[in-house]
Amino acid sequence: MTVATLDGQTQLVGILGWPVAHSLSPTMHNAAFAYAGLNWRYVPLPVQPGHNLDAALKGLVALGFRGANITVPYKVDAIPLLDSITEAVTIVGAVNTIRIDHNTGKIEGMNTDMTGFLADLAQNRVSMGKNTRALILGAGGAARAIAAGLVRSGAHVTIVNRTVTKAEAIVGFIRSSWANPDINAVSMEDLSMVAWDANLIVNATPVGMWPDTETSPWPERVPFPPGAVVYDSIYRPLKTKLMRQAEAAGLRAVGGLGMLVYQGASAYEVWTGKKAPVDVMKLVCQQALMEDSRPGPF
Ligand code: NAP
Repeated sequence: MTVATLDGQTQLVGILGWPVAHSLSPTMHNAAFAYAGLNWRYVPLPVQPGHNLDAALKGLVALGFRGANITVPYKVDAIPLLDSITEAVTIVGAVNTIRIDHNTGKIEGMNTDMTGFLADLAQNRVSMGKNTRALILGAGGAARAIAAGLVRSGAHVTIVNRTVTKAEAIVGFIRSSWANPDINAVSMEDLSMVAWDANLIVNATPVGMWPDTETSPWPERVPFPPGAVVYDSIYRPLKTKLMRQAEAAGLRAVGGLGMLVYQGASAYEVWTGKKAPVDVMKLVCQQALMEDSRPGPF
């Protein structure tokens, strides 16, 4: 790989959020740019909560940035500050990628978390559609994108969360966006009542994430539904306790690295107009995760 010289022609993108110091995205995107021979760079853009998100976005436009990923805690707050949003942002209710038009300076918001999750399911040949009965554990930003994607595919979705009102809020939001979506919410205490006939279980909580790698969001007392696929959106560690539990019970388990890579690949393609080197992006992330077990958002 030849890294293009940083000069007046260098095109800039980055990740805007707080904290972003431990993000894998700069490693992933800079490796992709170098592999493709593009004179582009991806930089961390830390913006402290309470500081001016609007000014930060306008600053990116003024500095000629081509776009950015938007991460925690700005995925919802950024939406009203954008010039336009895609349908995915509307149905998820969160933005994770912006593209800045080089000529007009207008900012378009999109959501590649949803498409990244769906692309990784497809890559792993996990079927989704009207025969899918999915349980999503958690009701935060990731759960919202995953639920929207699964509902769009025609799946029946149950969101299971410790705080049931948060799960109900996602259900209410999705019901307001679709005609007759097949989605409902239950409390984590009622997991055993809904678990038995699920064929896809998705962890969208941080339970099991480094450094708490011996924790799992799936209670030992609840049997896994036979034949289900378990998808853990966590990618640090690459194999979580939930994945180990599922495999021990004879289930197939898939980790969340592919979701990270595919959401990044979509953003890369939106910014550069070129096909993303997905295999390179995945490989550098795997290497970084094997060498470095620091916690942090992507
Ligand atoms: P979030 O908005 O903070 O939501 C976290 C959810 O997990 C909340 O619903 C919370 O429940 C629940 N939760 C937290 N701790 C829990 C515990 N000890 N027991 C039970 N439930 C608990 O976080 P997020 O942005 O959705 O991210 C969630 C995870 O998804 C992250 O940790 C990350 O690993 C993963 N993720 C992966 C990707 C990817 O590309 N692979 C992308 C995004 C996120 P309450 O509502 O009760 O507080």
